[in-house]
Amino acid sequence: MINTPYFPVDKLKEEETPLYYYDLHLLDETLDAIKEAAHYPNFHVHYAVKANSNPEILQRIAAAGLGADTVSLGEIRAAVTAGFPAPKIVFAGVGKTDIEITTALQYGIGCFNVESAAELDVIEQLAAGMGIKAPVALRVNPEIDAHTHHYITTGLAENKFGIALTMVETLVERCVKSESLDFKGFHFHIGSQVTDLTPFKILCERINDLQEKFADVEIPWINVGGGLGIDYDNPDENPIPDFKTYFNIFHDNLKLRPGQQVHFELGRAVVAQCGSLITRVVYVKEGIGKKFVIVDGGMTALIRPALYQAHHKIENITTSSDVTEKYDVVGPICESSDVFGTDEILPVTKRGDLIALRSAGAYGEIMASGYNCRPLPGSIFSR
Ligand SMILES: *Cc1c(COP(=O)(O)O)cnc(C)c1O
Repeated sequence: MINTPYFPVDKLKEEETPLYYYDLHLLDETLDAIKEAAHYPNFHVHYAVKANSNPEILQRIAAAGLGADTVSLGEIRAAVTAGFPAPKIVFAGVGKTDIEITTALQYGIGCFNVESAAELDVIEQLAAGMGIKAPVALRVNPEIDAHTHHYITTGLAENKFGIALTMVETLVERCVKSESLDFKGFHFHIGSQVTDLTPFKILCERINDLQEKFADVEIPWINVGGGLGIDYDNPDENPIPDFKTYFNIFHDNLKLRPGQQVHFELGRAVVAQCGSLITRVVYVKEGIGKKFVIVDGGMTALIRPALYQAHHKIENITTSSDVTEKYDVVGPICESSDVFGTDEILPVTKRGDLIALRSAGAYGEIMASGYNCRPLPGSIFSR
């Protein structure tokens, strides 16, 4: 087994672990690939800030010209600070508070992606009080069959996200008639880590049907959300998702009106592959019939394995031994779910070795917690 030359191991050895290592060169290449694939003049790509709001990462994405998709006032503030222009910020989420809505209106954000009739009432009242019009899109639950595509998490009417198709008509009417609402269009988000692209085609069909239903309503834009998945098993073979195929699905299948814009909200696909969690082996423990590699970063540094039973590729980046051994790789947290991998084949591993958990740039650092009074992991960047 040969070490990947990818990591600056000598430098990482000097750092306190656990910490996140970000390859900014790969991030830039990914952003270039997005810009190239989404080159259609009516396509607008937003970055879903919830995937990673590390200021260095956010600034780079803002500088590349993407907009921001946010789900809280904190994210809006982080986006503005990083240089995203307010009109390119959209704001989703089922529980927007009054202070969040008012402040977002003051910033002059591009659009509220509205998730309920109750929320629409509040946005309308607050905008009226300020004497302005609030830009709104209705987040429609596309009711894409979860049985055919079980990986889609936001599917049906009982879901907390979005507005049921049957309720859309009344709300569109309200938006159009309102003095304080500026109707921008429809918003969708079918789920995350979608790797078979068929659901996106189905989404296009749903959108086309909806547009036909509202033939006499002006719909300046359609927001198709995010969800494009990445290759967690082969980060070196597939460091950049197939953006071309993804964007072309929408280009080829959406029946757009003249001048209509399409907005995208990609999170994971932008940042997942550029980040790795670097941990240090504290002990190699002999169990009954198995060996444990115990590392100093666990579910508090990277919760995805414990939360979603996700698997990140595990590499020993210190040793170049080609003698291998089978290990369970676990963290130090006092929870049985604090496991990064079972029966992992690694080079013979010893105390002090560095272990990288790959593809951890999305929903990694941002979800870190202080459980067990552990400090939050730091971050370090390739230059
Ligand atoms: C989480 C989320 C996204 C981003 O999802 P990814 O799977 O990371 O691309 C986009 N839009 C909305 C509304 C979301 O909630």
